[in-house]
Amino acid sequence: RKLGYAIVGLGGYAGRILPEFANCSTSRVTALVSGDRAKATEWARKYGVPESGIYDYTTFDRIADNKDVDIVYVILPNSMHAEYTIRAAKAGKHVMCEKPMAVSAAECEQMIAACARANRKLMIGYRSRFQPHNMEAIRLARSGAAGKIRYVRSEHGFVMRDPSVWRLDRARSGGGSLMDIGIYALQAARYMTGEEPVAVSATESTDRRDPRFRTVEDLLAWTMEFPSGAMAGCQTMYSASQNRIFLAGTEGRIELEPATGYEGQKMWTGKNGRDREVTPPPGPRSTQFAGQLDHLSECILADREPIVSGKEGLQDLRIIEAIYRSAREGRRVTL
Ligand code: NAD
Repeated sequence: RKLGYAIVGLGGYAGRILPEFANCSTSRVTALVSGDRAKATEWARKYGVPESGIYDYTTFDRIADNKDVDIVYVILPNSMHAEYTIRAAKAGKHVMCEKPMAVSAAECEQMIAACARANRKLMIGYRSRFQPHNMEAIRLARSGAAGKIRYVRSEHGFVMRDPSVWRLDRARSGGGSLMDIGIYALQAARYMTGEEPVAVSATESTDRRDPRFRTVEDLLAWTMEFPSGAMAGCQTMYSASQNRIFLAGTEGRIELEPATGYEGQKMWTGKNGRDREVTPPPGPRSTQFAGQLDHLSECILADREPIVSGKEGLQDLRIIEAIYRSAREGRRVTL
């Protein structure tokens, strides 16, 4: 059986996700939610969604009566994730919510509680966990291929050019580069070490005269300390492009670059640098996006917890709040 997804918010990333249902085995798209009726009608035709499956933000709650919708996928600006996740759970639907899960840990807790009350699953759109290179890097790290893990470095940034986007408006984004792209560096440090940080120390560099950075940060660099004694050095920014993960262990290293983009991943292992390029085994589906979409459907059908449930999103927001606090207060913050 294919479970039906309702896509909420027809922006850039929804446009990347919709064609991916063609690569899915257990998921299909059955509804669209948008404030722009003309766009919704056009996309509905393109992706085979019936007219009766088109909603706007005021009629959204009527989705409760649509038997063809099992899952609501929230692809809205970050500040709207909590509201639409909670409304979807109240409508009796399972939820896929984009990263960052919300703009605060408190909101994440409300989302988890709403889905638990409704007995619905909640998963966060951490697509890299279904991407073959990242999956293989995790397997290698966990199997001790690099020895005891001592250090993970992860840098994720891109050049934000348009000063008018919601991502640069704290009220809608909840923060700057860290909330948007830095969360990949944070995730990578956690999934490569398999550990949770006990302390963070962060430093910010933002030119507040730059019209892009009136309310959000540009560059943040932070370290994380893990219980085993391993450390992570992470960095994110909106003023230069970078996308890599580097793990140093007592017996060797694992490197990915680009690490977490939509495509083009490359990976190396070695004792003294990039000795060997690794071709990972295929992922669960032909693309990471389809793997992510089908994972939630399969978890619902088998009544299992997604590997990136709301708890995972909440943990990232807790650490993000600690990183911001550390940068603001100029001190190491324990978790
Ligand atoms: P976008 O600006 O392209 O799309 C946002 C959509 O929300 C638009 O259709 C817009 O009309 C709608 N919207 C409704 N109310 C709005 C409001 N008050 N202000 C602004 N837009 C409003 O953004 P996007 O790039 O599609 O990002 C959406 C979400 O997806 C974000 O949470 C982002 O972090 C996430 N995202 C994830 C990935 C990934 O690889 N997992 C990639 C891109 C974006």
